[in-house]
Amino acid sequence: MRLFQKICFPLALSLAVALFGIFSHLSVPASTQPDEAGIALPILMYHHILKETARLNEYTISPDEFRQDMQYLQDAGYTPILISDLLDYVYDGLPLPEKPVMITFDDGYESFYAYAFPILEEYGFPAVFSIVGTYADQYTLADDHHVRYSHCTWNQLALLQESGLVEIQNHSYDLHKTDQGRRGSSKKPGEDAAAYQEMLHSDLLKLQMECSEYLSGWVPTCYTYPFGFISEEALPVIRELGFSCALTCRERVNQITKDPEDLYHLGRFNRPHGKSAQTILEAAG
Ligand SMILES: [Zn+2]
Repeated sequence: MRLFQKICFPLALSLAVALFGIFSHLSVPASTQPDEAGIALPILMYHHILKETARLNEYTISPDEFRQDMQYLQDAGYTPILISDLLDYVYDGLPLPEKPVMITFDDGYESFYAYAFPILEEYGFPAVFSIVGTYADQYTLADDHHVRYSHCTWNQLALLQESGLVEIQNHSYDLHKTDQGRRGSSKKPGEDAAAYQEMLHSDLLKLQMECSEYLSGWVPTCYTYPFGFISEEALPVIRELGFSCALTCRERVNQITKDPEDLYHLGRFNRPHGKSAQTILEAAG
Protein backbone atom coordinates (compact mmCIF):
# COMPACT_ATOMS: atom_id res chain seq x y z
CA MET A 1 0.00 0.00 0.00
CA ARG A 2 2.85 2.36 0.78
CA LEU A 3 4.43 1.40 -2.53
CA PHE A 4 1.12 2.15 -4.19
CA GLN A 5 1.05 5.55 -2.49
CA LYS A 6 4.65 6.25 -3.39
CA ILE A 7 3.87 5.58 -7.04
CA CYS A 8 0.45 7.16 -7.16
CA PHE A 9 0.95 10.30 -5.11
CA PRO A 10 3.54 11.80 -7.48
CA LEU A 11 1.25 10.91 -10.39
CA ALA A 12 -1.73 12.45 -8.65
CA LEU A 13 0.32 15.51 -7.81
CA SER A 14 1.48 15.97 -11.43
CA LEU A 15 -2.10 15.60 -12.58
CA ALA A 16 -3.27 18.13 -9.99
CA VAL A 17 -0.59 20.58 -11.10
CA ALA A 18 -1.56 20.09 -14.77
CA LEU A 19 -5.25 20.55 -14.01
CA PHE A 20 -4.43 23.58 -11.92
CA GLY A 21 -2.71 25.09 -14.96
CA ILE A 22 -5.75 24.47 -17.11
CA PHE A 23 -8.51 25.35 -14.69
CA SER A 24 -6.87 27.85 -12.37
CA HIS A 25 -9.09 30.63 -13.66
CA LEU A 26 -12.15 28.55 -12.72
CA SER A 27 -11.28 26.81 -9.46
CA VAL A 28 -8.40 25.61 -7.33
CA PRO A 29 -8.23 21.94 -6.26
CA ALA A 30 -8.76 21.76 -2.47
CA SER A 31 -5.52 19.90 -1.75
CA THR A 32 -3.32 22.53 -3.43
CA GLN A 33 -5.04 25.50 -1.89
CA PRO A 34 -2.75 27.36 0.49
CA ASP A 35 -4.60 27.47 3.77
CA GLU A 36 -3.05 29.32 6.67
CA ALA A 37 -5.42 27.78 9.17
CA GLY A 38 -4.19 24.33 8.17
CA ILE A 39 -5.93 21.05 7.45
CA ALA A 40 -8.12 19.68 10.22
CA LEU A 41 -6.87 16.32 11.46
CA PRO A 42 -8.75 14.55 14.24
CA ILE A 43 -6.84 11.63 15.77
CA LEU A 44 -8.63 8.78 17.53
CA MET A 45 -6.89 6.99 20.41
CA TYR A 46 -7.63 3.35 21.21
CA HIS A 47 -5.95 0.91 23.59
CA HIS A 48 -7.49 -2.51 24.17
CA ILE A 49 -10.23 -4.58 22.52
CA LEU A 50 -12.04 -7.44 24.26
CA LYS A 51 -15.21 -9.44 23.63
CA GLU A 52 -16.42 -9.80 27.25
CA THR A 53 -18.88 -7.01 28.03
CA ALA A 54 -17.92 -7.01 31.72
CA ARG A 55 -14.36 -5.96 30.84
CA LEU A 56 -15.24 -2.93 28.70
CA ASN A 57 -14.24 0.43 30.13
CA GLU A 58 -12.67 3.79 29.35
CA TYR A 59 -9.75 2.12 27.55
CA THR A 60 -11.31 -1.15 26.37
CA ILE A 61 -13.97 -1.46 23.69
CA SER A 62 -15.53 -4.46 21.92
CA PRO A 63 -14.64 -5.67 18.40
CA ASP A 64 -18.17 -4.67 17.34
CA GLU A 65 -17.67 -1.12 18.60
CA PHE A 66 -14.42 -0.89 16.66
CA ARG A 67 -16.08 -2.20 13.51
CA GLN A 68 -18.90 0.35 13.88
CA ASP A 69 -16.30 3.12 14.16
CA MET A 70 -14.56 1.99 10.96
CA GLN A 71 -17.91 1.76 9.17
CA TYR A 72 -18.73 5.31 10.30
CA LEU A 73 -15.36 6.64 9.07
CA GLN A 74 -15.99 5.03 5.70
CA ASP A 75 -19.60 6.27 5.43
CA ALA A 76 -18.64 9.81 6.50
CA GLY A 77 -15.93 10.01 3.85
CA TYR A 78 -12.89 10.03 6.14
CA THR A 79 -9.53 8.77 4.86
CA PRO A 80 -7.29 7.32 7.62
CA ILE A 81 -3.65 8.37 7.31
CA LEU A 82 -0.34 7.47 8.94
CA ILE A 83 2.44 9.60 10.42
CA SER A 84 4.38 8.98 7.18
CA ASP A 85 1.57 10.72 5.26
CA LEU A 86 1.92 13.75 7.55
CA LEU A 87 5.67 13.81 6.94
CA ASP A 88 5.13 13.49 3.17
CA TYR A 89 2.79 16.48 3.38
CA VAL A 90 4.96 18.71 5.53
CA TYR A 91 8.40 17.87 4.12
CA ASP A 92 7.75 16.66 0.55
CA GLY A 93 4.69 18.68 -0.41
CA LEU A 94 2.51 15.66 -1.16
CA PRO A 95 -1.21 16.29 -0.67
CA LEU A 96 -3.28 15.04 2.23
CA PRO A 97 -6.71 13.53 1.53
CA GLU A 98 -9.68 15.85 1.70
CA LYS A 99 -10.99 14.56 5.05
CA PRO A 100 -8.11 12.93 6.90
CA VAL A 101 -8.35 11.12 10.22
CA MET A 102 -5.78 9.08 12.14
CA ILE A 103 -6.47 5.82 13.97
CA THR A 104 -3.97 5.20 16.80
CA PHE A 105 -3.61 2.30 19.23
CA ASP A 106 -1.38 2.58 22.30
CA ASP A 107 0.49 0.03 24.42
CA GLY A 108 0.95 -2.79 21.88
CA TYR A 109 -1.80 -5.12 23.10
CA GLU A 110 -2.12 -8.50 21.41
CA SER A 111 -5.84 -7.71 21.10
CA PHE A 112 -4.88 -5.24 18.36
CA TYR A 113 -3.37 -8.12 16.41
CA ALA A 114 -6.29 -10.46 17.16
CA TYR A 115 -9.28 -8.15 16.73
CA ALA A 116 -8.43 -4.73 15.29
CA PHE A 117 -6.00 -5.70 12.55
CA PRO A 118 -8.40 -8.05 10.69
CA ILE A 119 -11.06 -5.30 10.71
CA LEU A 120 -8.55 -2.71 9.47
CA GLU A 121 -7.59 -5.12 6.68
CA GLU A 122 -11.24 -5.48 5.68
CA TYR A 123 -11.61 -1.73 5.33
CA GLY A 124 -8.10 -1.18 3.99
CA PHE A 125 -7.54 1.36 6.78
CA PRO A 126 -4.03 2.06 8.11
CA ALA A 127 -3.33 2.60 11.81
CA VAL A 128 -0.53 3.81 14.06
CA PHE A 129 0.49 1.29 16.76
CA SER A 130 2.60 2.71 19.62
CA ILE A 131 4.44 -0.02 21.50
CA VAL A 132 6.30 -0.32 24.80
CA GLY A 133 9.67 -2.09 24.47
CA THR A 134 9.58 -3.96 27.79
CA TYR A 135 6.12 -5.38 27.01
CA ALA A 136 7.22 -6.64 23.59
CA ASP A 137 10.34 -8.22 25.11
CA GLN A 138 8.39 -9.79 27.96
CA TYR A 139 5.72 -11.42 25.80
CA THR A 140 8.25 -12.53 23.19
CA LEU A 141 9.89 -14.61 25.93
CA ALA A 142 6.73 -15.65 27.81
CA ASP A 143 4.99 -18.99 27.26
CA ASP A 144 1.90 -17.63 28.93
CA HIS A 145 -0.33 -15.75 26.48
CA HIS A 146 -3.94 -14.60 26.74
CA VAL A 147 -5.61 -11.93 24.64
CA ARG A 148 -7.05 -10.47 27.86
CA TYR A 149 -3.61 -9.24 29.01
CA SER A 150 -0.88 -10.15 26.51
CA HIS A 151 1.06 -7.69 24.43
CA CYS A 152 2.34 -8.38 20.92
CA THR A 153 5.55 -10.34 20.43
CA TRP A 154 8.25 -9.03 18.12
CA ASN A 155 7.19 -11.62 15.53
CA GLN A 156 3.63 -10.30 15.56
CA LEU A 157 4.90 -6.72 15.39
CA ALA A 158 7.06 -7.59 12.38
CA LEU A 159 4.03 -9.10 10.61
CA LEU A 160 1.98 -5.98 11.35
CA GLN A 161 4.70 -3.63 10.12
CA GLU A 162 5.25 -5.71 6.96
CA SER A 163 1.53 -5.53 6.15
CA GLY A 164 2.01 -1.88 5.17
CA LEU A 165 -1.22 -1.06 7.05
CA VAL A 166 0.36 -0.66 10.48
CA GLU A 167 3.00 1.87 11.42
CA ILE A 168 4.83 0.93 14.63
CA GLN A 169 5.79 3.92 16.80
CA ASN A 170 7.68 4.45 20.06
CA HIS A 171 5.77 4.57 23.38
CA SER A 172 9.04 4.31 25.42
CA TYR A 173 11.13 1.27 26.24
CA ASP A 174 10.47 1.21 29.98
CA LEU A 175 8.71 4.43 31.01
CA HIS A 176 5.12 3.27 30.69
CA LYS A 177 4.53 3.38 34.44
CA THR A 178 3.69 5.78 37.22
CA ASP A 179 4.68 3.82 40.31
CA GLN A 180 8.37 4.75 40.57
CA GLY A 181 8.22 8.44 41.34
CA ARG A 182 8.00 9.41 37.67
CA ARG A 183 4.78 10.00 35.73
CA GLY A 184 5.39 8.27 32.41
CA SER A 185 8.40 9.85 30.70
CA SER A 186 8.05 13.23 32.40
CA LYS A 187 10.72 14.88 34.57
CA LYS A 188 10.43 14.25 38.31
CA PRO A 189 9.98 17.34 40.48
CA GLY A 190 13.44 18.66 41.37
CA GLU A 191 15.24 16.26 39.02
CA ASP A 192 18.35 17.63 37.31
CA ALA A 193 17.44 18.46 33.69
CA ALA A 194 20.61 17.00 32.19
CA ALA A 195 20.25 13.75 34.14
CA TYR A 196 16.60 13.53 33.07
CA GLN A 197 17.48 14.07 29.43
CA GLU A 198 20.20 11.44 29.55
CA MET A 199 17.80 8.92 31.07
CA LEU A 200 15.10 9.69 28.48
CA HIS A 201 17.59 9.54 25.61
CA SER A 202 18.85 6.10 26.54
CA ASP A 203 15.36 4.72 27.16
CA LEU A 204 13.90 5.89 23.84
CA LEU A 205 17.02 4.96 21.90
CA LYS A 206 16.83 1.40 23.23
CA LEU A 207 13.39 0.92 21.66
CA GLN A 208 14.48 2.62 18.42
CA MET A 209 17.31 0.10 18.16
CA GLU A 210 15.07 -2.86 18.96
CA CYS A 211 12.60 -1.76 16.27
CA SER A 212 15.39 -1.44 13.73
CA GLU A 213 16.63 -4.91 14.65
CA TYR A 214 13.30 -6.75 14.78
CA LEU A 215 11.30 -4.79 12.19
CA SER A 216 13.62 -5.02 9.19
CA GLY A 217 15.31 -1.68 9.73
CA TRP A 218 12.13 0.28 10.51
CA VAL A 219 12.88 3.15 12.88
CA PRO A 220 9.88 4.89 14.52
CA THR A 221 9.29 8.50 13.50
CA CYS A 222 6.87 9.44 16.26
CA TYR A 223 7.08 9.45 20.06
CA THR A 224 3.86 8.76 21.92
CA TYR A 225 4.02 10.22 25.44
CA PRO A 226 3.02 7.56 28.02
CA PHE A 227 -0.28 8.65 29.62
CA GLY A 228 0.17 11.99 27.85
CA PHE A 229 2.53 13.30 30.57
CA ILE A 230 4.76 15.91 28.96
CA SER A 231 7.85 17.79 30.16
CA GLU A 232 9.30 20.76 28.35
CA GLU A 233 12.75 19.20 28.75
CA ALA A 234 11.71 16.11 26.75
CA LEU A 235 11.37 17.90 23.43
CA PRO A 236 15.10 18.48 22.71
CA VAL A 237 15.71 14.76 23.32
CA ILE A 238 12.84 13.74 21.08
CA ARG A 239 14.20 15.92 18.29
CA GLU A 240 17.78 14.77 18.80
CA LEU A 241 16.70 11.16 18.40
CA GLY A 242 15.17 12.02 15.03
CA PHE A 243 11.49 11.85 15.91
CA SER A 244 9.48 14.21 13.68
CA CYS A 245 6.19 13.92 15.59
CA ALA A 246 4.83 13.44 19.09
CA LEU A 247 1.38 12.21 20.12
CA THR A 248 -0.21 13.59 23.28
CA CYS A 249 -3.57 12.96 24.96
CA ARG A 250 -4.84 16.54 24.65
CA GLU A 251 -8.35 16.25 23.27
CA ARG A 252 -8.45 18.59 20.30
CA VAL A 253 -8.59 18.58 16.50
CA ASN A 254 -5.14 19.30 15.04
CA GLN A 255 -4.65 21.97 12.41
CA ILE A 256 -1.85 20.73 10.16
CA THR A 257 0.11 23.40 8.31
CA LYS A 258 3.42 23.11 6.51
CA ASP A 259 5.13 24.09 9.77
CA PRO A 260 7.00 21.01 11.10
CA GLU A 261 6.52 22.34 14.67
CA ASP A 262 2.81 21.51 14.48
CA LEU A 263 3.69 17.83 14.53
CA TYR A 264 5.27 17.81 18.00
CA HIS A 265 2.04 18.41 19.93
CA LEU A 266 -0.59 16.33 18.19
CA GLY A 267 -3.81 16.01 20.18
CA ARG A 268 -5.98 12.89 20.28
CA PHE A 269 -9.47 11.86 21.36
CA ASN A 270 -9.74 8.81 23.62
CA ARG A 271 -12.47 6.45 22.43
CA PRO A 272 -14.00 4.82 25.52
CA HIS A 273 -16.57 2.01 25.63
CA GLY A 274 -20.04 3.38 24.92
CA LYS A 275 -19.02 6.58 23.12
CA SER A 276 -18.64 6.05 19.40
CA ALA A 277 -16.16 7.64 17.02
CA GLN A 278 -19.19 9.23 15.37
CA THR A 279 -20.21 10.95 18.62
CA ILE A 280 -16.63 12.07 19.28
CA LEU A 281 -15.96 13.39 15.78
CA GLU A 282 -19.32 15.10 15.41
CA ALA A 283 -18.86 16.85 18.76
CA ALA A 284 -15.33 17.91 17.78
CA GLY A 285 -16.72 19.49 14.62
ZN1 LIG B 1 0.03 3.93 26.98
